[in-house]
Amino acid sequence: TERMNRRIQSGDPWYSLEFFPPRTANGAVNLVSRIERMSEGGPMFCDITWHPAGDPGNTEKPTSSTCMAATMLNYCGVETMLHITCSNQDEDGLKRNLQKAKDIGLKNLLALRGDPPDGGDTWKKQEEGLNYATDLVKVIRREHGDHFTICVAGYPTGHPESTSYGDDLRHLKEKVDAGADFIITQLFFKPETFFQFLRDCREIGITCPIIPGVLPIQAYQSLRHIVKLSRLEVPKEILDTIEPIKDNDEAIRNFGVEQCFQMCRELLKHEDVHGVHFYTLNREVATIEILRRLGMWVEEPCKPLPWKQTANYVRCK
Ligand code: FAD
Repeated sequence: TERMNRRIQSGDPWYSLEFFPPRTANGAVNLVSRIERMSEGGPMFCDITWHPAGDPGNTEKPTSSTCMAATMLNYCGVETMLHITCSNQDEDGLKRNLQKAKDIGLKNLLALRGDPPDGGDTWKKQEEGLNYATDLVKVIRREHGDHFTICVAGYPTGHPESTSYGDDLRHLKEKVDAGADFIITQLFFKPETFFQFLRDCREIGITCPIIPGVLPIQAYQSLRHIVKLSRLEVPKEILDTIEPIKDNDEAIRNFGVEQCFQMCRELLKHEDVHGVHFYTLNREVATIEILRRLGMWVEEPCKPLPWKQTANYVRCK
């Protein structure tokens, strides 16, 4: 948050990049190279999601979220945020994973409840575990004080399980009041959706930074999959444009870059929007192109890690 506040004061817009843990060790190697390349564009931070079925927190398994986070932070040298959910783990397990996160040097967490572990639509109360992200924020603050900067999730059209949009906003405020420092939103398709949400949050007294989460549409099938999982509706005008070109990956990608670029430009014009969060889907081309067009891709060839400095020094020369 300190870095974020400095950037907010400087008036320069910033961005962050989200990745998910790969399935195989080879995938992990590829993802690490990708994160290295993308960290040269100067993101505020990169984050790694937590697998819905739970993360063993095993730092030796290269595909676990915790191990990926350790590599991103300590090898790629990028400010890293680890997602962590309450699903499928009791409070002791959570505490162990929080301690591991601290031990590997992490300072940033995205605290989530998680989706129902059985893939269903409704959350079944966990007797041994936590049932709301607010409870997780409280545990993190109780156990680790101010060590972690804590982010929580916000839903511009309301969380799909919530009793109402208003109730969901109130629960979001509870998460912030419990100690969260900032909010990243679920993806949305129109800037107005975010602006309305921002107004509503401010109106009920949520004052922390609220970062819009944006998805560059990169393929027809993956968009279908994501909206199904997140229970979102794609606006008709977007569907009408992409349905006829759904088998043409390049055309979809070009549309996705243009649509996301325009949306980011609108978002960043707002005085209360200082950064955007990219759901990269572990791909780099579209996100980098959007960032270049926005003028936000800043080449930062020299990184601070000692064992990399020599190599970078030679390269910079
Ligand atoms: P909560 O804030 O706990 O809210 C869950 C529901 O409970 C909401 O409907 C809310 O209104 C309601 N609620 C909250 N408090 C109360 C209360 N006191 N009483 C009654 N109802 C209440 N999932 C993963 O598995 N791994 C990830 O890495 C991951 N990353 C994500 C990143 C972002 C930015 C976002 C937006 C989502 C992510 N998700 C991830 C998905 C997320 O886990 C789901 O959307 C999940 O269903 C809700 O998590 P939450 O933390 O928002 O839940």
